[in-house]
Amino acid sequence: QQPQIILLKEGTDSSQGKPQLISNINACQAIVDAVRTTLGPRGMDKLIVDAGGKATISNDGATIMKLLDIVHPAAKTLVDIAKSQDAEVGDGTTSVVLLAGEFLKLCKPFIEEGVHPQIIVRAFRKATYLTVQKINEISVKIKKDDPKEKTSDQIREQRELLMKCASTALSSKLVSQQKDFFSKMVVDAVMILDELLPLNMIGMKKVTGGALEDSQLIAGVAFKKTFSYAGFEMQPKSYKNPKIALLNIELELKAEKENAEIRVDNVDEYQSIVDAEWSILYDKLEKIHKSGAKCVLSKLPIGDVATQYFADRDMFCAGRVSDDDLKRTMKACGGAIQSSVSSMTDDVLGTCENFNERQIGGERYNIFTGCPQASTCTIIMRGGAEQFIEETERSLHDAIMIVRRAIKNDAIVAGGGAIEMELSKYLRDYSRTIPGKEQLLIGAMAKALEVIPRQLCDNAGFDATNILNKLRQKHATGGRWFGVDITTEDIADNFETFVWEPAVVKINAITAASEATCLILSVDETVKNPKAGGEGGPGGPMGRGRGRGRPM
Ligand code: ADP
Ligand code: MG
Repeated sequence: QQPQIILLKEGTDSSQGKPQLISNINACQAIVDAVRTTLGPRGMDKLIVDAGGKATISNDGATIMKLLDIVHPAAKTLVDIAKSQDAEVGDGTTSVVLLAGEFLKLCKPFIEEGVHPQIIVRAFRKATYLTVQKINEISVKIKKDDPKEKTSDQIREQRELLMKCASTALSSKLVSQQKDFFSKMVVDAVMILDELLPLNMIGMKKVTGGALEDSQLIAGVAFKKTFSYAGFEMQPKSYKNPKIALLNIELELKAEKENAEIRVDNVDEYQSIVDAEWSILYDKLEKIHKSGAKCVLSKLPIGDVATQYFADRDMFCAGRVSDDDLKRTMKACGGAIQSSVSSMTDDVLGTCENFNERQIGGERYNIFTGCPQASTCTIIMRGGAEQFIEETERSLHDAIMIVRRAIKNDAIVAGGGAIEMELSKYLRDYSRTIPGKEQLLIGAMAKALEVIPRQLCDNAGFDATNILNKLRQKHATGGRWFGVDITTEDIADNFETFVWEPAVVKINAITAASEATCLILSVDETVKNPKAGGEGGPGGPMGRGRGRGRPM
């Protein structure tokens, strides 16, 4: 029996063992350094220019990580956890990357000394389990009663709580100056939604120009006026209690379309085709008119003949309405989207109290308000530069996610490093009760958690060592919610100063960071196939399979 030898294809890059682990950790460190300075209310923003030359300014960890175009295979894990944090809870994306980086950094000496990665992994899993339990134990729950029997006091209390959470999420963003304005808007928006709080029922529209404070929340649907024909634009359009037809029908003469091709032999034949088209169209238009609909919205184009027809009968129409806008209109106003005009009965028509077309900045907007099933709303964002509005949108998205999270699960903790310091103390105390390597490893995780308050201080230009010392001392003597006070360069009880965050943000961040750490620690070999880079090169998947080598 010949021994099996694995032969790797020429050019295959493989490294393994301890050096590989260390190099993976170093690569992650480089990524973390890229987002480090964005944490917290005094964090800086990043301007990232992609290959296409599009510039993005952002403070959001997930956005930055996505745009960084990371190629290192292990470091990609960090991008994944930032993305997953973004999808799960929406906020805390910088924190999660920072935590993972710090966990890895503090593991490095152990790896170098030859501690087996699995021992580290086991200790980290245990520590994570303990921290999550601790968060659940100490987070403050706002009593949750049957939502239907809420008194006005309780509703107000809940609103306050949500606003606090939203404003903490916003305080680290570009719009932090207007955080009160926006946190109110975000809470109002989420409160309009129905019980499931579907995110896509909040429309976000951007209109450049104006001030941030000109942004508005519309309790209903609003969308930019679609293309329409001359003459129609000028008419004032405003209806009370209109019936709304939602269509997926093309109201256009085919001959108007440039790509239509008809072969005919003589003029009569051509005329008959044209006649037939007109009568089909008029038939459709008449049916729509007879149904009593005042507003006609269609996903497909509405041509000039149809536009004129509707205009003559004091009806409003808009073609090429985007799919999600049409769906939101349906959700808000009732009715159903029709693909034919054969049964335009009242039950498929929607309605709302007010429809009007309004000028917002340089754009005209169609606005439907007073909707009977008002479970959708639209935020119209205003502001100077395009990039600025885009960052505002991302920031509001964070805040909206946080508010949704807080409604579903209203346990909160204090931010500004307070919860991290408390967990750090708890783990350190715990580690002292156990012997062996585990003690050192859990102690390392305790130390790693301090990265959040430290970075908050660093980014604000405070003396981190000094503040951390004060914090440690406070937490040792029972000051559970003491954290960094950004305004006074000192420490403060962040529960009392209302720096509140939903507990799930922290639970998710710590679990995800620890998972990523364990994942990176359990990789001790990377095999890079020479083909793997150029996707779908000659040979395709076959060639890739061969690269793994064959028994001889
Ligand atoms: P992330 O992407 O992780 O949410 P942020 O840049 O939003 O990163 O920063 C969040 C951190 O800033 C959290 O640890 C939060 O507790 C802290 N923070 C937010 N507002 C304040 C404040 N007013 N004072 C102190 N810390 C704050
Ligand atoms: Mg944040």
